[in-house]
Amino acid sequence: MGQHISHWIDGRIRPGTSGRTAPVFNPALGEVAAEVDLASTAEVDKAVLAAKQAAAEWRTSSLSRRASILFAMRQQLHERADELASVITAEHGKVHADALGEIARGLENVEFAAGVPQLLKGGFSEQAATDVDVYSIRQPLGVVAGITPFNFPAMVPLWMCANAIACGNAFILKPSEKDPSASLLLADMWQRAGLPDGVFTVLHGDREAVDALLEHPDVAAISFVGSTPVARHIYETGTARGKRVQALGGAKNHALVLPDADVDLAADAIVSAAYGSAGERCMAVSVTVAVGDVADRLVEALAIRLPKLVIGDGATAGTDMGPLITAEHRDRVAGYVDEGERSGARVVVDGRESTLPESGFFLGATLLDHVTPDMSVYRDEIFGPVLDVVRVDTFEEGLALINNNPYANGTAIFTRDGGAARKFQFEVQVGMVGINVPIPVPVAYYSFGGWKASLFGDAHMYGPEGIAFYTKGKVVTSRWPDPSSSEVDLGFPTTR
Ligand code: NAD
Repeated sequence: MGQHISHWIDGRIRPGTSGRTAPVFNPALGEVAAEVDLASTAEVDKAVLAAKQAAAEWRTSSLSRRASILFAMRQQLHERADELASVITAEHGKVHADALGEIARGLENVEFAAGVPQLLKGGFSEQAATDVDVYSIRQPLGVVAGITPFNFPAMVPLWMCANAIACGNAFILKPSEKDPSASLLLADMWQRAGLPDGVFTVLHGDREAVDALLEHPDVAAISFVGSTPVARHIYETGTARGKRVQALGGAKNHALVLPDADVDLAADAIVSAAYGSAGERCMAVSVTVAVGDVADRLVEALAIRLPKLVIGDGATAGTDMGPLITAEHRDRVAGYVDEGERSGARVVVDGRESTLPESGFFLGATLLDHVTPDMSVYRDEIFGPVLDVVRVDTFEEGLALINNNPYANGTAIFTRDGGAARKFQFEVQVGMVGINVPIPVPVAYYSFGGWKASLFGDAHMYGPEGIAFYTKGKVVTSRWPDPSSSEVDLGFPTTR
């Protein structure tokens, strides 16, 4: 048994007092590597109090000071990217290059937030009436909390905290208890970047801590990313308590491949989008919709690529795909493949039979063809290295399939036909769309969010919508009569 992982409150590590802990695994070794403290309601109360005090002070800090701390945080992330990536790989299992990729995508949000002096500029209407000016300002909410999933232990917290902090809030992070260490490294970086104690807090925990944050009257807003059932619970509970809530849920992302597509380009893109990070990405492609006669060519192109994927410990150079997060999850994913096969899908490449490292929570890359929408492998989010191929006859049939799916996070089309791509972008009922791009995660100066069961609330995450989410608007109507006007006695000489 290794380390003990504790909370970060008011600028330092605070050992938990609840007496409850959870094991943290190294999934590539299949061993418990640490124990993480799970916060009680009383610990949440203490952390919120410290954050509240810090928020009162932090909102008075100048915009230039906030920007310079964000620039320093950017520097920390650059200098310590390797260290952070190693921590992510050890607890999550994704390969080192993938972990560096997630840090790079998180860092973009710090760069965006460093523009806070520009982002918080309001409007000004001079002379709305005689001697009357009207202007708008945006002010922080106070204490805001982020509850994050295991699959991006650095990027998703950075989606939230960079903007929240830049806007003058104190941010409490409740990371996934499955890979909690990255959050403590982020806390250390914020401190070294010059952020005052209490503005960034890490509270480890499970449902008890989450519910305590949802119930706490001093937590003004909740940002959540995770599975759909929990997102719904967070949204319903948080909004019922009068909080702002943005709750991003699960996904079942489709890639539509038209007969005119460049099959090699599509196959390369889909393999990396389906099996990267062992499929544990909310923007992973998990269904390929093959239109017309492209199907056989595409399935063949996908199938020849899969045996070349090197599966192993993500910390070892040259590995393409690491393990799944837990043994239970690995078994659940393999169970879906069993069910798919039983219900008539053709197992083209069978990851259950891959040669895999003996220890660790590994499963090989699996390709299922002739999947139909009634099968559980199609209906459910599997969140593993399993790609379904659904065959359809026409573009319209493929579009309708995507639009009938309850999830609507991301989607992609592969084609050489600009008109078809534009029609797809116009008609598809999904929040993020790729055209010959398999994982269309928006850059940080746009916002990230799906539709339907992939997002509860109306604010997408990060970018301009993140700034709006973490601030409330105030409009000032002000009258300053002209001192030279004879109608007003100001009690001092009106000529100079
Ligand atoms: P999860 O829903 O199990 O957990 C997410 C967070 O909620 C964790 O911090 C966890 O501790 C907490 N939590 C879990 N159960 C809870 C409960 N009953 N009550 C209160 N809190 C609870 O998700 P996960 O397994 O960590 O992550 C994978 C899921 O996240 C997938 O469904 C994936 O699609 C989704 N995800 C979505 C996006 C997106 O942008 N839409 C991004 C990343 C991950």
